[in-house]
Amino acid sequence: MTTTTLLTRIALADALAAEDHAEDGGFLDPLDRITCPVHRRWLHQCCHSDLHVGRVSGHRWCRPCGRALEVAVDEVLRTVTLHCPKCGRGARTRADAQLVAACEASLVASARSARRAA
Ligand SMILES: [Zn+2]
Ligand SMILES: [Zn+2]
Repeated sequence: MTTTTLLTRIALADALAAEDHAEDGGFLDPLDRITCPVHRRWLHQCCHSDLHVGRVSGHRWCRPCGRALEVAVDEVLRTVTLHCPKCGRGARTRADAQLVAACEASLVASARSARRAA
């Protein structure tokens, strides 16, 4: 059990380092990352944080309503859905699609590393 946790943590550390490097080198759009450079976690584990609301870029943000979108992560089905608590809209903009794609890729990557460790 301890070994599994350790290997999963190493997989995350490796992914973080690789993405930091790719972003610094100009190869990776910060908003395409599947790991979070602030929380040092897989994106789907911290995308609920207010830090992931981008009013300028429109990430996790409903501009017409002026409020943050709720994000629901299903770790079993590996799906991520967005929802505006005011107007009820789901993922619609390009920013939404980018966030959902990055979160789902992060779910898959973390599950893969956990499976490899098991
Ligand atoms: Zn984060
Ligand atoms: Zn709305």
